[in-house]
This record gives sequence, structure tokens and C-alpha cells, in this order.
Amino acid sequence: MAVGTVPWCLVSALDVWRTLPAKQQPSWPDLEELQSAYNQLAALPPLVTAPEVRSLTERLAMVARGEAFLLQGGDCAETFAANTANKIRDKVKTLLQMAVVLTYGASTPVVKVARIAGQYSKPRSADIESSTGLPSYRGDAVNDIAATAAARRPDPMRMVASYHQSAITLNLVRAFATGGFADLSKVHEWNKAFVRDSAAGRRYEVMATNIERALAFMAACGIDLGSAALTGVELFTSHEGLLLEYERALTRVEDATGNPYDLSAHMIWIGERTRDLGGAHVDLLSRVGNPIGCKIGPKASPDEVLELAERLNPQHVPGRLTLITRMGAGKIRDALPPIIEKVNAAGPPVVWSCDPMHGNTRDVSGIKTRHFDDVLDEVFGFFEVHKALGTHPGGLHIELTGENVTECLGGAELIGEEDLGGRYETACDPRLNTGQALELAFLVAEMLQQ
Ligand code: PEP
Ligand code: MN
Repeated sequence: MAVGTVPWCLVSALDVWRTLPAKQQPSWPDLEELQSAYNQLAALPPLVTAPEVRSLTERLAMVARGEAFLLQGGDCAETFAANTANKIRDKVKTLLQMAVVLTYGASTPVVKVARIAGQYSKPRSADIESSTGLPSYRGDAVNDIAATAAARRPDPMRMVASYHQSAITLNLVRAFATGGFADLSKVHEWNKAFVRDSAAGRRYEVMATNIERALAFMAACGIDLGSAALTGVELFTSHEGLLLEYERALTRVEDATGNPYDLSAHMIWIGERTRDLGGAHVDLLSRVGNPIGCKIGPKASPDEVLELAERLNPQHVPGRLTLITRMGAGKIRDALPPIIEKVNAAGPPVVWSCDPMHGNTRDVSGIKTRHFDDVLDEVFGFFEVHKALGTHPGGLHIELTGENVTECLGGAELIGEEDLGGRYETACDPRLNTGQALELAFLVAEMLQQ
């Protein structure tokens, strides 16, 4: 498969994107290196399988019908350096803890999708970083964050390295999902510890006690809390499908069905900056069988979103498309209703998910941050809009970490501007720390109970 410009007559459907404008691609300095990385990736085994991908579509179809809730979360940008056993464990742990609280609050199954095992590339607002004059850091799959010219040179072999890092992560994530780590009783014990031991958690004692009672009730009814259904979880992977060479190389045609799937992750989403209808990203991802997400920002018109939804889900398959709105707390209540009305009236079934992070980024003395109150306000606005329209608020899409970082302001721990310098470790956008993420889950669960 040739990389770069190829004659039209040789372009297969899966390579039509090569003829279209592709935003946010690195300026790879050497096309031979790119070809070599592509060939290596194309020869490597897939990271996930087509049947797994289809089962995520089925789970998301439940969300689209209002029978389940989606929780998607993880780092803004994974890095090779932070890909350690403990950090992976703590991220998964936080996601599982949030999921238990939300399951209780929503009284429906929670579909768990991590931003993990592939979230190694980032869209950037400028090619050149103004502070250093160097090429911008575009994620570990492209270049190195260190501020030197050599480190910032886009290196296609980093895509191969990020495949291997993803495989290592996925191996551990799969073990955590089914090997006893995700045991419901254990996850509940962690939540009890959060409530007992942290100032942030104390507010949620009532709900933790109610969950405790629900578990006791289940046990009293004879439900075996040690059964496989309650000691393991289904945990899916996702990342932004940004680097088209990477996504194309991991796209495989399934023997049994003849259908192509992007087997770099279960769910792939298209970012706000690359969702052009005539662009390469929409074209490639419209042709693979995975569940696809698409970010929708405040500038999107209802007509444009409808067109995107039709393009990405022409067969109207429930679970195929998740529209992840990221409007900002001040805009969601006005911008979201006309979009929902337009799509629901004429378009395909979609999962409506709320990303309360990306519309709420602010600059505090040169540090990128977000305030917990804005995040919460956007989430509440999302639920209010859906309630008013009688539609299903399907899910949440969160940037979070399993550690005590100080990247987002506020929350019960009252992280202030002066605290941002303490543990500011993200390679890109500020993430909720564990306490803030759990707080968000408890607050949403409380609201769902009302
Ligand atoms: C992201 O999810 O990290 C991201 C870049 O989001 P968006 O495309 O919505 O800006
Ligand atoms: Mn981000």
C-alpha cells in the first residue's frame, strides 16, 4: 500500500482519504521512513478484534435506546513515560469507581470505555509553538515533548512505538477487567474509603451507604456477589483517530464478513478540528465498522451535524455513532437543543454524550486549566436540555487521571490557582484528579436520583 499521493485508479475505498485534505497531520520529514513505519504497523497483529468491536456497538445501541449510560474517560494524552503499571491501574480503578456510582444513580448498566491504549496523538492550534519557536508537540506517537529541535522532529517510528505501548497497556487493562481487580464488592470498598478518608468524599456518605444497602439486599436475595458477572467487567478502549497512517495501517478486513474494522481500538472518535465533511478523517472512519464518536463544538450548525451524522451512520445503525458535544458551560443550554431536535427529527439514532472539558479550558498565568464548577455546570446543562426535550442524556466523556494531580481548579479539595504548580503533570490538557472525578460521579448520580 503506497503512502502519499497515488493515482486515482489505484485507490481502494479505504484509501480514498489519501486524495482528500487531511488536517492536523504531522509534517513527516521523510516519506520513506513513513512508508517503512506504515509497513511495519500493517504487518503487526490487531490490538482488538472485530467481534469485540461489534459488542461495543451493541452496548452503545442500548445507550442510544435509553437503556444504558456511557462513561468514557482517561488522559488527554497518554505518554510513554507515564505508561507504568501503577498509573494504568489507578486510571482503571477511578473509571471503575465512577462506573459503580453512576450505575447506582442511573439504575442502568454503564458502558465503560477508556481513553487508553492508543491516545498518543494530539491536534494542535499551531504548527509552531510560539514560546519556543519549535514544532509543536503532537503527542508521543509523533514527537517528543522536550523543547529541542531534535526532540520535536516528527518521527514515524514513534507510531510503531505507540502501537507497542498500547499493546502493553491493553494487556494489563484486560487483566484488570477480568482477573478479579474489577470485583464489584472491592470497587465499592474503594468508594467507601474515598468517602471515609477524604474531605471531598464525606459529602457522599448517604449515597455510599445506600449502595452498601443495595449490595446487602442483592446478597440477601441469593445473588452471588462472587459470580463472574460481578467480579469482572467489560472495559473497552478508545482514542481520537487523528493519525491517518496509523489508523489505516491497523484497519483490517475481517475474513468472515469481508467488512473493514479499525482494530487499533474498539471505539474511535473524530476530533472537533478534523470533522470536516469533505476531509480525510470523516472519509476513512465512515468506512470502518467500529462505533465512531464525533466531537461537536459550539460553532457547529444543526444542519452540519445532521449531515455529519448521516455521513457517519448512513444505515442508521443504533450504537454506531456517538455525538460528543463540547460546548462550554455558558453555551450548552442554547447551542445543544436545536442540534438534538434536528438530528432526532430526521437523522440516524445517536448516543448523546457530554464532554464538559474541552469547552471550558482557561488560561491562568500561562497555565491551561479548567474549573470543576464549569465542568459540573456543563454536565448539568446537558442533563437539563435532555430532560426538557425528552431525550436520553447518554453519557459522559471526561479527561481524568487516577492520581492526585492539581491540574483543574476547584472541587471539594478547593484546588486554587496557587496550587496548580504543585502536581501539574499532563502532557496536554488538564485532567480531573481522582477526587474530582469521583465527586463528579457522585454529583451526577445524586442528580439522577432526584
Ligand atoms: C480531546 O478530546 O483531547 C480533544 C482534543 O478534543 P476536541 O477535539 O473536542 O477539541
Ligand atoms: Mn484534551
